[in-house]
Amino acid sequence: MSQLRRLPAVGHLLQESPLAELTGLYGREALRVQTTRVLDAVRAEIRTGIEDDQLAETIREIPDRVRAALEAEAPPLRRVLNATGIFLHTNLGRAPLPREVVADLADRLDAYCDLEMSLDTGRRSDRGRRVENLVRALTGAEAALVVNNNAAALALALSSLASGREVLLSRGELVEIGGSFRIPDILEASGARLVEVGTTNRTRLADYERAIRPGVSLVLKVYPSNYRIQGFVEEVDPATLADFAHRHGLPLLVDEGSGMLRAEPAPPLSRHQSFQDLIEAGCDLVCGSGDKLLGGPQAGLIAGRESIVARLRESPLYRALRPGRLVLTALDAVLRRHLAARPMPIAALWRDGEEHRRRVEGLADRLGGKVVRGSAYLGGGSAPEQEIEGWVMALTAPGDVAARLRQGEPPVVGYQREGRLFLDLRTVDPEDDQALAEAVERALARRS
Ligand SMILES: *Cc1c(COP(=O)(O)O)cnc(C)c1O
Repeated sequence: MSQLRRLPAVGHLLQESPLAELTGLYGREALRVQTTRVLDAVRAEIRTGIEDDQLAETIREIPDRVRAALEAEAPPLRRVLNATGIFLHTNLGRAPLPREVVADLADRLDAYCDLEMSLDTGRRSDRGRRVENLVRALTGAEAALVVNNNAAALALALSSLASGREVLLSRGELVEIGGSFRIPDILEASGARLVEVGTTNRTRLADYERAIRPGVSLVLKVYPSNYRIQGFVEEVDPATLADFAHRHGLPLLVDEGSGMLRAEPAPPLSRHQSFQDLIEAGCDLVCGSGDKLLGGPQAGLIAGRESIVARLRESPLYRALRPGRLVLTALDAVLRRHLAARPMPIAALWRDGEEHRRRVEGLADRLGGKVVRGSAYLGGGSAPEQEIEGWVMALTAPGDVAARLRQGEPPVVGYQREGRLFLDLRTVDPEDDQALAEAVERALARRS
């Protein structure tokens, strides 16, 4: 019992340093709740038996335990240096926004803005119109619509066009994109029934023809972007499929996935059909993500025929899925950048000239590493998973260096192979080179 009486009171702990200093970070209520929990845990330890000197130590540790519990509950989001060479790293937030875009957003985000007001007439306007017009300009589509992500775009399209009806989809496109996103599940959640067409590796036009029946209301094509079937493979190209759908009076929806609005000259992308290509090929509706190849914020972009986009816009679900101004403002800036053909951060992946080599050499000299050939990837379950060759730095380092790098400040994520640590600077902003080198030095414990 006397041990229990040695415990400090909650109120006392909260008024004293060091917990008092945490009030500004977490608020008094959260601190009180967490401190009470920690004290309860210490009481439980006392009841199971604890030495007096051990108790003194435990009491001294109470503030640290409270802080750790609060941090573990809501760790702040941190800036990470991505040296993996995987540009769209799903675990690291996918596409980084161009720095100029972010800088340019500030004056519309810390104030009011004309999100839904026409400054000409003083009347209410449509919040999505600006970005929709930009998507139209970039893709040549009659109409466009923006929602929170591509999964939402698909759900909206399927529920508006095919709820209670049937949808034709090739068995080769019954994919899972990651993050528990499965095409058959989205179909089901949208109230549409799936009609599987063809086989996993080969689906021909004749298979679609055979599957046609009165309940069908939509033809769906999905880019299985994160895997590839090789060998004995056949699929129906979008133009042929659009022609087939139209002959049967059905619309064709293509889930392009990556948000590549216009053709890209970059080699691994040049064979990937863009929104513009797909619309030109006669697809009625195309959807894709805002935070993959487009390089914008998380969003779902939809482009296509006016009469069909209108049906999505009228759906009550659209009201639930439309983005807020943070996303619309960032998307607006990114789309304008594409319209002006200004470079996006992803362009750095193809950096393989002398200048890039010197940059990698500079880092390798400083850290005692070697410059070797290595592969970067687009990643993010996006577009082709082809390797993009280039110079990277390899470092012979103890096995725990990768973990220490991740846990350092700033956190650095590289990759390990055959006992070596690789850092690919193509996914690192050159302005971060100094911070990266210092972080590696600390992780190698050359410096404290
Ligand atoms: C990434 C992807 C999705 C999911 O997009 P989110 O924006 O993550 O919701 C859907 N379909 C395809 C083909 C994709 O590549």
